[in-house]
Amino acid sequence: MDHFLYRSGTLHAEDVALSDIAQVIGTPFYCYSTATLTRHYQLFTEALSPLPHLVCFAIKSLSNVAVLKTLGNLGAGMDVVSAGEYMRAKAAGVPGDKIVFSGVGKTREEMRIALEGGIRQFNVESEPEMRALSEVASSMGVIAPIAIRVNPDVDARTHEKIATGKSENKFGIPIARASEVYAEAARLPGLDVVGIDVHIGSQLTELSPFEQAYLKVADLTHRLRAEGHDIRRLDLGGGLGIPYARNNEAPPLPTDYGALIKRTVGDLGCEIEIEPGRLISGNSGVLVSRVIYVKNGEGRDFLILDAAMNDLVRPSMYGAHHDIVAVEEPAAGTEQQPYDVVGPVCETGDTFAKARPLPPLAEGDLVAFRSAGAYGSVMASEYNTRPLIPEVLVKGDHYAVIRARPTFEEILARDTVPEWL
Ligand SMILES: *Cc1c(COP(=O)(O)O)cnc(C)c1O
Repeated sequence: MDHFLYRSGTLHAEDVALSDIAQVIGTPFYCYSTATLTRHYQLFTEALSPLPHLVCFAIKSLSNVAVLKTLGNLGAGMDVVSAGEYMRAKAAGVPGDKIVFSGVGKTREEMRIALEGGIRQFNVESEPEMRALSEVASSMGVIAPIAIRVNPDVDARTHEKIATGKSENKFGIPIARASEVYAEAARLPGLDVVGIDVHIGSQLTELSPFEQAYLKVADLTHRLRAEGHDIRRLDLGGGLGIPYARNNEAPPLPTDYGALIKRTVGDLGCEIEIEPGRLISGNSGVLVSRVIYVKNGEGRDFLILDAAMNDLVRPSMYGAHHDIVAVEEPAAGTEQQPYDVVGPVCETGDTFAKARPLPPLAEGDLVAFRSAGAYGSVMASEYNTRPLIPEVLVKGDHYAVIRARPTFEEILARDTVPEWL
């Protein structure tokens, strides 16, 4: 469910017409709905109650500080994977003790920044990282709380680029070696071992891989406790998928996911953390773009948009599907026709959809890509020196630009020409 609906013939974000925003700030732009973000966050906390828990929003899916503040104000924690994301969480006013630091390659500098600013826990992914963290913490005279990310070797049955829980993936330590690694962690002076972490992938559309992983985590909890570790927190990762095409996918709901968590690890007396990204941010955002030209090719019509792969890379990178809708609602009974929907970037990969049935569209019309809130804006670049796409946040009947489109002067000012030229 989201809050992007047609009203009086125009697609709205909550109570604001997307065409009104387009008129003021130009296109393309991302637009997020506060009500949708809020609802999705609340679905998770409700699904986990009454277990003691913290929902840590995976910032990497959508990292604008205004969005983080919206969620932070509701009580959300944050899952960060870099010092930059850590700074964003802090800038949004999220206290350090609600920030979890994940990621396979944290540098010593990043560890230092998080230890200085305060951190709930580091999710450690390897022995070298564990040793480095202990050294950094000791040198600062502090103790770093850690969970160790285990790789449960389950098949998440998702896109290969975003599956992370198989033994051949680079993530975590093999669960079979957990005893050894936890024993070493317990001996290291700068660490306090608080729990276990697992994250098996993204855009999962079934519960069974989660179930397999969480059952292994439950077993491991018993084993590690028997070996003397005070396992008091379980971080179960993110990864719950969303429907990208309205009519044919039905991923599990947060309620069912919550019930699964209660069933598999709910009686261990642990505090539960989860790190959803996409399910909170995905359907909370649309990308609005204008048709520049309609080009009649051989046997196909191209819809050339002012948005491109640099603004939304998922179709090009993952072969991902996004529903595309006309911002002006087509009259009932309008016949659809197939379009190849493309951007202006100079490569064939800059294709959003092929032979996509859409109502007849003309130069100047607006379209919206649905479910574009997650891994949209955050993966945008300035390829082809196209200005970084701006972001807008809607709340009820008002909206704010939460990241402005840079001017060409601002873009050029970032290059510096050495004095010898
Ligand atoms: C990417 C990632 C997430 C979020 O995944 P979603 O599919 O967006 O829910 C959570 N935790 C970790 C460690 C991640 O790498």
